[in-house]
Amino acid sequence: MTVLDDRVDVAADVTPLLLIGGRWVDSGDGATMPVENPATGEVIREVADATAADGRAALDAAVAAQRSWAATPARARSDILRRAYERVIADTDRLAAIMTAEMGKPLAEAKGEVAYAAEFLRWFAEEAVRIGGGDFTRTPDGANRAMVVRQPVGPCLLITPWNFPLAMGTRKIGPALAAGCTVVLKPAPQTPLASLALAQIFTEVGLPDGVLNVVTTSRAQEVVEPLLRGGDVRKLSFTGSTAVGRILLEQAAPAVVRTSMELGGNAPFIVFADADLDVAVDSAVQAKMRNMGEACTAANRFFVHESVAERFAGRLAQRLGSMVVAPGTAEGAQVGPLIDGPSREKVANLVSDAVVRGAKVLVGGDAPEGPGYFYNPTVLTNVHPDSALTRTEIFGPVAAIQTFTDSDDVIAAANDTEWGLVGYVFTQDIDRAMAVSEALEVGMVGLNAGVVSNPATPFGGIKQSGLGREGGRVGIDEFLEHKLVVLPVRPPREG
Ligand code: ADP
Repeated sequence: MTVLDDRVDVAADVTPLLLIGGRWVDSGDGATMPVENPATGEVIREVADATAADGRAALDAAVAAQRSWAATPARARSDILRRAYERVIADTDRLAAIMTAEMGKPLAEAKGEVAYAAEFLRWFAEEAVRIGGGDFTRTPDGANRAMVVRQPVGPCLLITPWNFPLAMGTRKIGPALAAGCTVVLKPAPQTPLASLALAQIFTEVGLPDGVLNVVTTSRAQEVVEPLLRGGDVRKLSFTGSTAVGRILLEQAAPAVVRTSMELGGNAPFIVFADADLDVAVDSAVQAKMRNMGEACTAANRFFVHESVAERFAGRLAQRLGSMVVAPGTAEGAQVGPLIDGPSREKVANLVSDAVVRGAKVLVGGDAPEGPGYFYNPTVLTNVHPDSALTRTEIFGPVAAIQTFTDSDDVIAAANDTEWGLVGYVFTQDIDRAMAVSEALEVGMVGLNAGVVSNPATPFGGIKQSGLGREGGRVGIDEFLEHKLVVLPVRPPREG
């Protein structure tokens, strides 16, 4: 197997420092943190490890830049986002290589993420100039004129996870900057390099100093909590685990900070007896294996009608079993490593627990020999509903299949979770498709589709999967206030 440029330092031209007020600076106490390649376990780079004071300095810079950025014409903000979009696209190979190195996903998927990430910049460049349109009305009693002005919410704190290092950043930076907000971005400590490379691009396309600040840190709680409690952050946009989301909501409460939360999922993937099995299997591979299963949208619980379960499971096992598990830089790699050792251990423990409760391993169920945090694609049938993996985000390449016979029962089972991000439904009956889509307690439904995310459509969950939406027409609203200006109707003065 050919391993491409594994030894090349793909992040050589990334500045491993904090970006504060337009300057690249060391951490206040000089600390650095290692970035590891999960395919090899080797440290690929040391980057600045911000202190609480650095976080404060970054927020001060965002606060200082807020007024002039909000006053910058929308067309100028849009042009900067558009130029950033073009630079990201032009830099696809480099950005993809950085993500593969720090996160593990295969290069082909990393390139796909670059395109997806860039699209948020293009979409919100286009949205920036269409914010205008607030209402202008007479109140129903005729006594007042009412104008609704949409204004930026103010300085934002953006906290992103490691699984989509570039796209989770642009999905927040794009609408925030388009709306006229300044930001502090705190990327995940495992994957700071993609964010630093993106920040570099923004500085090169003319983004004014202080509008985008980046603090990489392993001391998340120490840095973030005082910022949230301090009152200067007007908006928190977070993507990550439900557990951390709850903590941040509490920390945001004292200063009544507006929040958007993209949290965990426990997606049901329901295959009815009348489903087109080719479509269902193809979509299952996408919904389960995209990003090695490390996605909040990953299919977590497969419910397959008893009459087609054996065929579906057999075909899925055949597909997953033939996927190429290899470092993301290897030619033809389809399944890279998981992010770190504890994540792989968690996946292995979930599989063992399911097996103890009676699950059958059709394929996988183990980790390959050698370095890196790889886990083999796995299909389990006969999964008992009490297995831990039906109540836990697996975040790995494990498809856990249960069977059902009754539609009402499967909807109840699918909804029997505190999460509600996405559900996947496979049937050729349009009435059933719509009825099930309406009954599922989720923010998004894939109807005969294994991928739902698109920058032009609203992404988000209900229940404990989150608050607010990213992308689409509504994405920018998360960063805007609707201000009402009332002017009483009076007769004009004489003369
Ligand atoms: P995961 O389990 O997938 O790593 P997390 O929710 O732990 O997801 O992390 C998502 C983001 O939240 C990362 O940027 C991480 O550094 C950050 N984070 C984790 N804990 C805290 C915390 N207590 N305060 C602020 N940010 C945090």
